[in-house]
Amino acid sequence: MSTVFEKIINREIPAYIVYEDELVIAFLDISQVTPGHTLVVPIAPYENIYEMPDDLLAHAVKITKKISIACKKAFDADGIYVLSNNGEAAGQTVFHFHFHVLPRYINDDVSL
Ligand code: 5GP
Repeated sequence: MSTVFEKIINREIPAYIVYEDELVIAFLDISQVTPGHTLVVPIAPYENIYEMPDDLLAHAVKITKKISIACKKAFDADGIYVLSNNGEAAGQTVFHFHFHVLPRYINDDVSL
Protein backbone atom coordinates (compact mmCIF):
# COMPACT_ATOMS: atom_id res chain seq x y z
CA MET A 1 0.00 0.00 0.00
CA SER A 2 1.28 3.44 -0.94
CA THR A 3 2.39 5.72 1.91
CA VAL A 4 2.71 9.45 2.26
CA PHE A 5 6.46 9.12 1.58
CA GLU A 6 5.77 7.76 -1.91
CA LYS A 7 3.55 10.78 -2.52
CA ILE A 8 6.49 13.02 -1.50
CA ILE A 9 8.90 11.06 -3.71
CA ASN A 10 6.47 11.36 -6.66
CA ARG A 11 5.98 15.08 -5.96
CA GLU A 12 2.26 14.54 -5.36
CA ILE A 13 2.49 16.39 -2.05
CA PRO A 14 5.06 19.00 -1.01
CA ALA A 15 7.99 18.51 1.33
CA TYR A 16 11.16 20.44 2.09
CA ILE A 17 13.65 18.19 0.32
CA VAL A 18 17.26 18.61 1.48
CA TYR A 19 18.94 15.79 -0.48
CA GLU A 20 18.11 13.38 -3.27
CA ASP A 21 19.97 10.86 -5.40
CA GLU A 22 18.86 7.84 -7.41
CA LEU A 23 18.46 5.68 -4.28
CA VAL A 24 17.44 7.86 -1.34
CA ILE A 25 15.70 11.12 -0.54
CA ALA A 26 15.90 13.26 2.60
CA PHE A 27 13.29 15.83 3.65
CA LEU A 28 12.24 17.69 6.77
CA ASP A 29 9.79 15.89 9.03
CA ILE A 30 6.41 17.62 9.01
CA SER A 31 6.45 17.70 12.82
CA GLN A 32 9.85 19.04 13.81
CA VAL A 33 10.70 17.46 17.18
CA THR A 34 13.71 19.76 17.12
CA PRO A 35 14.44 22.24 14.29
CA GLY A 36 16.18 20.41 11.47
CA HIS A 37 14.49 17.06 12.15
CA THR A 38 15.08 15.21 8.87
CA LEU A 39 13.95 11.88 7.45
CA VAL A 40 16.23 9.80 5.22
CA VAL A 41 14.10 7.52 3.05
CA PRO A 42 14.95 4.98 0.33
CA ILE A 43 13.17 5.72 -2.95
CA ALA A 44 12.10 2.04 -3.14
CA PRO A 45 9.22 1.41 -0.74
CA TYR A 46 10.73 -1.18 1.60
CA GLU A 47 8.52 -1.29 4.67
CA ASN A 48 11.15 -1.83 7.36
CA ILE A 49 14.81 -2.59 8.09
CA TYR A 50 14.25 -6.35 7.81
CA GLU A 51 13.31 -5.94 4.14
CA MET A 52 16.07 -3.50 3.22
CA PRO A 53 18.77 -4.95 0.91
CA ASP A 54 22.16 -4.61 2.59
CA ASP A 55 23.69 -2.41 -0.12
CA LEU A 56 20.77 0.01 -0.05
CA LEU A 57 20.85 0.08 3.75
CA ALA A 58 24.59 0.85 3.61
CA HIS A 59 23.94 3.72 1.20
CA ALA A 60 21.12 5.07 3.40
CA VAL A 61 23.49 4.98 6.40
CA LYS A 62 26.16 6.83 4.41
CA ILE A 63 23.67 9.57 3.51
CA THR A 64 22.36 9.62 7.09
CA LYS A 65 25.93 10.35 8.21
CA LYS A 66 26.20 13.25 5.72
CA ILE A 67 22.84 14.65 6.84
CA SER A 68 23.87 14.28 10.50
CA ILE A 69 27.07 16.27 9.95
CA ALA A 70 25.20 18.97 8.00
CA CYS A 71 22.43 19.15 10.63
CA LYS A 72 24.87 19.41 13.53
CA LYS A 73 26.58 22.32 11.84
CA ALA A 74 23.47 24.10 10.52
CA PHE A 75 21.55 23.89 13.81
CA ASP A 76 24.56 24.20 16.13
CA ALA A 77 23.50 20.98 17.85
CA ASP A 78 25.30 19.43 20.82
CA GLY A 79 24.49 15.98 19.46
CA ILE A 80 22.56 14.16 16.77
CA TYR A 81 19.99 11.47 17.44
CA VAL A 82 19.65 8.85 14.67
CA LEU A 83 16.83 6.37 15.01
CA SER A 84 14.52 4.09 13.09
CA ASN A 85 11.20 2.72 14.30
CA ASN A 86 10.43 -0.72 12.85
CA GLY A 87 6.95 -2.06 13.45
CA GLU A 88 3.94 -0.61 15.20
CA ALA A 89 5.18 -1.80 18.59
CA ALA A 90 8.36 0.23 18.05
CA GLY A 91 6.38 3.36 17.19
CA GLN A 92 6.50 3.19 13.39
CA THR A 93 3.64 5.17 11.87
CA VAL A 94 4.71 5.40 8.22
CA PHE A 95 5.40 1.95 6.83
CA HIS A 96 8.14 2.94 4.41
CA PHE A 97 11.58 2.49 5.97
CA HIS A 98 13.32 5.65 7.18
CA PHE A 99 15.93 7.06 9.51
CA HIS A 100 15.13 10.05 11.69
CA VAL A 101 17.99 12.55 12.14
CA LEU A 102 17.40 14.95 15.05
CA PRO A 103 19.55 17.76 16.41
CA ARG A 104 19.82 17.36 20.20
CA TYR A 105 20.93 19.78 22.92
CA ILE A 106 22.27 19.39 26.44
CA ASN A 107 19.25 19.20 28.78
CA ASP A 108 16.67 19.20 25.98
CA ASP A 109 13.47 17.36 26.83
CA VAL A 110 13.10 15.24 23.71
CA SER A 111 11.52 11.85 24.22
CA LEU A 112 10.74 9.55 21.30
P1 5GP B 1 7.69 6.97 12.28
O1 5GP B 1 6.64 7.28 13.33
O2 5GP B 1 7.15 6.00 11.26
O3 5GP B 1 9.01 6.57 12.85
O4 5GP B 1 7.97 8.35 11.57
C1 5GP B 1 7.15 8.87 10.58
C2 5GP B 1 7.42 10.34 10.51
O5 5GP B 1 6.84 10.84 9.31
C3 5GP B 1 6.79 11.14 11.67
O6 5GP B 1 7.82 11.77 12.41
C4 5GP B 1 5.86 12.13 10.97
O7 5GP B 1 5.86 13.40 11.56
C5 5GP B 1 6.42 12.15 9.55
N1 5GP B 1 5.40 12.46 8.56
C6 5GP B 1 4.13 11.95 8.50
N2 5GP B 1 3.46 12.49 7.46
C7 5GP B 1 4.32 13.35 6.85
C8 5GP B 1 4.19 14.22 5.73
O8 5GP B 1 3.16 14.31 5.06
N3 5GP B 1 5.28 14.97 5.41
C9 5GP B 1 6.44 14.91 6.12
N4 5GP B 1 7.45 15.69 5.72
N5 5GP B 1 6.59 14.11 7.19
C10 5GP B 1 5.54 13.33 7.56
